[in-house]
Amino acid sequence: MPREILVTSALPYANGRIHLGHVVEHVQSDIWVRAMRMAGHTVHYVCADDAHGTSIMLRAEKEGITPEALIDGVWTEHTADLRDFGVIYDHYSSTHSETNRGLTYRIWRALEQNGHVESKPVKQLFDPERQMFLPDRFIKGECPVCHSKDQYGDACEVCGSTYTPTDLIEPYSVVSGATPIQKESLHFFVKLADFEALLKSWLEERRAAGGLQSEVANKLKEWFADGLRSWDVSRDAPYFGFEIPDQSGKYFYVWVDAPVGYLAAFKELCESGRKQELGPAHFERFVRAESDTEMVHFIGKDIIYFHTLFWPAMLHGASLRMPTAVNVHGFLTVDGAKMSKSRGTFVNARTYLDHLDADYLRYYLASMLGPTLADIDLDLKAFEERVNSHLVGKWVNIASRCAGFLHKNFDGKLADTLPQTARARYGAAAARLEACAALYEARDYAAAMRAIVEVADEANAYVADHAPWTMAKDESRHAELHTVLTLALNYFRLLTIWLAPVVPATAARAFEFLGEAPNRFTAARTPLLGQGINPFKTLATRIDTRQIAAMIEASKESMQSPDLQTAPAPQPSPHGGGGGKLGPPTISIDDFARLDLRVAKVLVCEPVDGSDKLLRFELDAGDLGKRQIFSGIKAAYPEPAKLVGRNVVFIANLAPRKMRFGVSEGMILSAGTGGTDLFLLDADQGAAPGAPVK
Ligand SMILES: [Zn+2]
Repeated sequence: MPREILVTSALPYANGRIHLGHVVEHVQSDIWVRAMRMAGHTVHYVCADDAHGTSIMLRAEKEGITPEALIDGVWTEHTADLRDFGVIYDHYSSTHSETNRGLTYRIWRALEQNGHVESKPVKQLFDPERQMFLPDRFIKGECPVCHSKDQYGDACEVCGSTYTPTDLIEPYSVVSGATPIQKESLHFFVKLADFEALLKSWLEERRAAGGLQSEVANKLKEWFADGLRSWDVSRDAPYFGFEIPDQSGKYFYVWVDAPVGYLAAFKELCESGRKQELGPAHFERFVRAESDTEMVHFIGKDIIYFHTLFWPAMLHGASLRMPTAVNVHGFLTVDGAKMSKSRGTFVNARTYLDHLDADYLRYYLASMLGPTLADIDLDLKAFEERVNSHLVGKWVNIASRCAGFLHKNFDGKLADTLPQTARARYGAAAARLEACAALYEARDYAAAMRAIVEVADEANAYVADHAPWTMAKDESRHAELHTVLTLALNYFRLLTIWLAPVVPATAARAFEFLGEAPNRFTAARTPLLGQGINPFKTLATRIDTRQIAAMIEASKESMQSPDLQTAPAPQPSPHGGGGGKLGPPTISIDDFARLDLRVAKVLVCEPVDGSDKLLRFELDAGDLGKRQIFSGIKAAYPEPAKLVGRNVVFIANLAPRKMRFGVSEGMILSAGTGGTDLFLLDADQGAAPGAPVK
């Protein structure tokens, strides 16, 4: 039975670039959409930029432009990046749209009318200079637990403690530097407890139907056990967002209108006339509570709370349909670690595209993605090997090895029929891959890719066993050769049909070569016979290790590039994608000022018993006194005693670290890549111990 399904990806925040963490999610949903369409379903695929919030307001201010100009520029960049990754939305909107404003108001008014809204005064830190309330991430101060300076208002990055901004010692506003004061303001709340019974039954029903992963359902149960507190949905001016109707100076918190943005994007698509079967009336039918259509969200594991509690509650409170499924994925790691700007593994989508083919990453991610919340590791070596071995070696090679013989000996025409054994062989392979339809739907892409690779292995073994290159020399085996080439190219076609959702651009070139463009999986049931195919042109080339190295190098460089975004730290907000914080590849001068860099004179430098990497330094740091620092540079300086008396540069305010050999009180700076390639920094003559480096 064909189904009608609205599919969304989490909305990228309009304050940063699309990076590979986002790509995981958009590729995951795009593959799903393509596969469901090839299975015969009607799918509407929409997304939008999440364009509201304090971060965007302040960044626009800093750049001297309006928030609208800022989000327009980012929108253009985001849509180009996603499109070039083969992620093709029917409509990609922005939450800062009149349609979204209208829908947000409609939902809000319904919540109010049904008695789900309450208001009460809230005490919050306020920046008296900038005249604004400060979100937690815009307040810094000394950690009340470990006394590290310059920690955020919600958590300490040094000791990991969480607290509220009012607990900070000597707090200051990141916006103006002023000391915040406590100020009271009226806030609006949605009474989530009203929806507890409803959400519990929705959870059970969805889990049973496969619309919620069990890990997600368990998380929800924990939250229920804690009790659902009312949700603060208002923010005071100045704020970039939608003003709350009849409440001058009060704005909807970005998380209110962000998910509404899914429906607003769909409404705009319905009203655009771009899809004949859609229209304004269709939208209303789609969103009514008893709709038999499906609404499927793809999100990262950092925003489960918003999508499985607030969002269904808001929809139900406004008598609208609830989500059919919330599909959650893990974060992207690179080479087993969190994406890192300094290692060059925080890769922007555009930087990847400058060096490598989008389908390569799509294929690798598909081979890693399962239906769980497990993180997905981009192992760069495995990425290269898998693309070269599977895509080029096992798939494309079937066509490149056989096409020439078909053109030379049979005028490029496939045989009209296949003998019984070849037909049976094809039928068995096609039947095996039919299982992939269900695997795609269950988002077990990794299992689908394994099945496809198995059939590719079988196809390659068939070609190797029958050696068409030998047969071609023997006139008496002409008919046999035609069978072998026809079956081999049908293997290739079969693999192409099932790989098409994952590698759409390469598959399109392959179909051009085959002279057809099947858009249903069912096309794979019947082999292609009696038809002429086009001369073979290269479909995919092997990855050269140097392309990956160049991408990593360019990602390191983009850290320093001055034309990139400078933004305050992002507040927790609806940006999906996960796998590393969204944010600026550059830092502000304030970030630099957090580092207390000093010149010091080496008093003692010696090897450390039991360590083959470390040297122990004692430094004269002038007015800071003496410092002991362990530094992992022994490979570069095998004669440590020679360092005594020279100057070094070190970070004086790095939190002391207790090591097996003693406490290390800072970090000495050196240039180079590590191992023997390390060179200590020096200061020109005249720099006294303790002199600050600025
Ligand atoms: Zn701390």
